[in-house]
Amino acid sequence: MTRYDVIVVGAGVAGSLVAHRLGKHGRRVLVLEAGAGDAGARDPAADPLAAFLRATARTPHPAAPWPVMTDLAGTDATPGYRAAGHLRQDGPLPYASGYVRANGGTGNVWTGLAPRMLPEDFDTETFGYGRRWPLTYDDLEPHYRAAEEHLGVAADVEEQRAHLGLRFPEGHVFPMRPLPAARLDRVFAERLDGRRVKDPVALGEVELKVVGTPHARNGVPDPRYDGGRGYVPRGRDGRPDPHSRCVGNASCIPHCPSYAKYTPLKTQGRWSASVALRDRCVVSRVLVDGAGRATGVEYRGYDGAVSVAHADVVVLAAHAVENARLLLLSGLAGRSGQVGRNLMDHPVLLTWGLLPEGERAGPYRGPGSVSGFEGFRAGPARRLRAPFRVEFGTWGWVWAKGPVDTDVWHLIAERGLSGAELRRTLGDRLQRQFTLQFEMEQGADPANRVTLHPTERDALGLPLPLVTYDLDEHVKEGMAAARAVSDQIFALLGAQDHTDYAPAAAWPGRFEHRGRTYGYRGAGHAAGTHVMGDSAAGSVVDSWQRCWDHPRSVRGRLRQHAVGGHLQPDADHGRPRAAQRRAHRGGTGLPRPPVVRRRPSPRTRRPFHGHGSVPRPSE
Ligand SMILES: Cc1cc2nc3c(=O)[nH]c(=O)nc-3n(C[C@H](O)[C@H](O)[C@H](O)COP(=O)(O)OP(=O)(O)OC[C@H]3O[C@@H](n4cnc5c(N)ncnc54)[C@H](O)[C@@H]3O)c2cc1C
Ligand code: SF4
Repeated sequence: MTRYDVIVVGAGVAGSLVAHRLGKHGRRVLVLEAGAGDAGARDPAADPLAAFLRATARTPHPAAPWPVMTDLAGTDATPGYRAAGHLRQDGPLPYASGYVRANGGTGNVWTGLAPRMLPEDFDTETFGYGRRWPLTYDDLEPHYRAAEEHLGVAADVEEQRAHLGLRFPEGHVFPMRPLPAARLDRVFAERLDGRRVKDPVALGEVELKVVGTPHARNGVPDPRYDGGRGYVPRGRDGRPDPHSRCVGNASCIPHCPSYAKYTPLKTQGRWSASVALRDRCVVSRVLVDGAGRATGVEYRGYDGAVSVAHADVVVLAAHAVENARLLLLSGLAGRSGQVGRNLMDHPVLLTWGLLPEGERAGPYRGPGSVSGFEGFRAGPARRLRAPFRVEFGTWGWVWAKGPVDTDVWHLIAERGLSGAELRRTLGDRLQRQFTLQFEMEQGADPANRVTLHPTERDALGLPLPLVTYDLDEHVKEGMAAARAVSDQIFALLGAQDHTDYAPAAAWPGRFEHRGRTYGYRGAGHAAGTHVMGDSAAGSVVDSWQRCWDHPRSVRGRLRQHAVGGHLQPDADHGRPRAAQRRAHRGGTGLPRPPVVRRRPSPRTRRPFHGHGSVPRPSE
C-alpha cells in the first residue's frame, strides 16, 4: 500500500490550496473527496458555459444540482422551523446555511467576494464579546496577499485603506483593478454618499459611503502589480488566460460560464503530479497510534466498502460541520471539550424594495453584489450590537423572494395582468428592484454546536450531524439597528419598501425582537467548530491550526470562516476566506511550519458574554 506524506480530507478551497502548496514542495499527497469528482457526474449538463447557453432563461441561480445539505422550512410558530435533509437541527433558531458535497466543495457555488478582516476583528474581547484570535491582522497580512494572488482578487488598495482602515505595504496594489461599479452602486453613490443615518441601538450616526468590495473574479490586470511585473488572470482549470474577464452574465451561483470567478477547480488544475485525488471517498475515521499521532484514515466508497490509507500527516479540510463530525466520529481532540462548539455564520437580514418610478436599479447584470456600505463594521458601537456589512443586492429580489417567476406569478394571478400590460409592468418592476443584505458578525458561543445525531444515519450508516443554534441579543440588536438603517435609506431614496417576512414557510429564520418581526438567511459562512486559540485547555487547534491533542499529526482544517472558517474564533466580516488564507499560509509547513509572531503578553480570557431555509438559491 502506498504511504503518503499527507492525506487531505476534502477538496474544497481549503483542501485544494493545502494540497497545491504541499505538491509544489514535492510532497506525496492523497486528497480524499466525498463528492463526485467529474462535473458530468454531478450534472449531465454541467459544463458551465454549455449549461448557460442552453438555459431557457439566463437568470442568476439556475436550479443547482447540488445535494441538499440543509432542508429548512418555516412553520406558523415564531420562532418555528422544520429541518430535514443532511443537517438535522434542534436549536431555538435554525442554522440557515448550506454547503456542498462535490469536488471543489462549497467554493463551486460561492459568491466570490473576498474582503479582508479588519485589524480590530481579531480582538472582539475588547468590545465585550466573542474570543480573541491567537494572531493579529499583521500576522496574516502577507498571507492575505499570497491568497489574493492565488485566487486573483480585483480591488482598490487606496479605497480599502481609506474606508476600512486596512494596512497594506507601501506601493502594494491588488492583482486586478476593481470591478466597474454596478448601476445600483452609482445610483446609491449619487443619492446617499455623505448622508448620515442614525443607529438607534448604538445611539450614534454613521455617514454613508459606497465602497467597492474585493472580488475573487477576473477584472482588468493592474500593470503595477508585483513590482511592475503585472498579473495574468487565470481562466478555466486555472490556466493563465490574459483575456479572462467577468463579463456580467450574472449566473455566478452556481456557475460562472466565463470561468472568471475563482473556484477550487482552478487550484486543482495547478496541482503537481505528486497530488492524487480520489473522489466518492467518504472519510469516516481518523486513525491514531498509541501516542495519539495520526497514522491515516478509514474511508468508505459509495458501495459501502471500507478502505484505509496511511500518511504522516492528516489535514482535515472537510468544512466546519463535517470536520467536527469527523473528529467526533473518531473520538479525537476532545480534551478542551470545544470540538463542534462555537458554530458561527453571518446571519443576513434582508430588506428589499423598488426605486421610485422612472428610476432604474439595473438588476441582473454582473455579480450579485459589487459594492456596499462598510461604515457599520467598526468602532465602539459593536459593544452594543453586532457589527455588520451592507451588501447591495444587484440580482433583484432573487435571494429574498425566489426567482423572477414569482413576480410573473404575482402580476398574472394576483393582479390579473396579461399581454402588453403584463410585459410593461413586469419590465418596470424588475428594473426598479434592489435588495440590501445586512451581514451580521456572530461571536463564538459554545452553546452553538455540532454533535452527532443519536439515532439518524446517512446512507453509509454514519451518524448525521445535529446542529444546535441560536442568535443572541448582540446579534438581534445588530439586526434591529440594521432594520432602522434600512428604513432611513429607503426614505432617503424615496424607495418603496416591500420587505415582508411572510409567508412564514419561506422564512425559517424568523423571530420577534422588541415587538418587530425579523427574518434572516444564512450566508454560507460556517466557522468555529474546532476553534483556534493559544491554549490546549480552551481551544482545539493552535494558531497554525495544529490539533493540540494530536501534535504534528491531525490538523484541523484551516478554516475559512475560520476562512473555511472552521477554526476562526469569531465570524468576522472578512468571510471564511481568512481561515483559508491561513491554510494557505500553513501549507508549506511540513514537517514544521515557521514560527508565527505572537503577541508578547499572556492573555486572560474573559468569559463569553453571550454574543454570541431558504438559503441562497444555490444552497
Ligand atoms: C452560496 C454561498 C456563497 C458564499 N459566498 C462567499 C463569499 O462571497 N465569500 C467568502 O469568503 N465565502 C463565501 N461563502 C463561504 C465559502 O464558500 C466557504 O466558507 C468555503 O467554500 C468553505 O471551504 P472549505 O474548503 O472549508 O469547505 P468546503 O468547500 O465545503 O469543502 C469541503 C469538502 O470536503 C468534502 N467532504 C466533506 N466531508 C467529507 C468526508 N467525510 N470525507 C471526504 N470528504 C469530505 C466535501 O465534499 C467538500 O468537497 C459562500 C458560501 C455559500 C454556500
Ligand atoms: S457576473 Fe462575472 S463572475 Fe459572475 S457569472 Fe458573470 S462573468 Fe462570471
